[in-house]
Amino acid sequence: MSILPKAITDLTNSFERLPGIGPKSANRLAFYLMNAPRTFGEEMARNLLRVKDEVKICQKCFGVAEKDRCEICSDEKRSEKIICVVERAIDVVALEKVGGYKGVYHVLGGVINPLDHVGPEELKIEELINRVEVIKKGEKVEIILAMNPTMEGEATALYIKKKIENLNSKAEIKITRIGSGLPIGADLEFADQITLSRAMDGRREL
Ligand code: ZN
Repeated sequence: MSILPKAITDLTNSFERLPGIGPKSANRLAFYLMNAPRTFGEEMARNLLRVKDEVKICQKCFGVAEKDRCEICSDEKRSEKIICVVERAIDVVALEKVGGYKGVYHVLGGVINPLDHVGPEELKIEELINRVEVIKKGEKVEIILAMNPTMEGEATALYIKKKIENLNSKAEIKITRIGSGLPIGADLEFADQITLSRAMDGRREL
């Protein structure tokens, strides 16, 4: 039997389910909130629900958005001829922090991973191919494959490359892969800005 009131145990259990939070941190957060002013708790609860209710998925790039289209896809100054393909929406945040990128994104929603039963059809790969397919004859396009440098990331990159090549598109498509400087198995989300910037600048043709 727990010596703690059930409300604290329940909140601790909720925190423990968050990525990167262990039992001790979870306990500390629960006690912190218990001691914090009620208004703080209310604000937090409200924000938690808002993120579920108000955040949409961009219908073009599948990143996060407030409307049907995200801020990046709605920005006319962004080039639609450079598409950076990433695993998750949070990777867009990491790459945008680096700054300087003037293209658009495409969020796959993961990588091909047979062990986790994630096949190509579970990801937004078909949607990416459709985006590439509408690019007109003679136009120059770059598809940057910016999945994490893991085995699954590499396999997904090769799969997408093959799919695009099989399109027989009349556009001039260059497929590149970021990587230079990123250690094997690294996660874009946790890479520092200099490393990410180097990885973007040093991308090589695939
Ligand atoms: Zn978008």
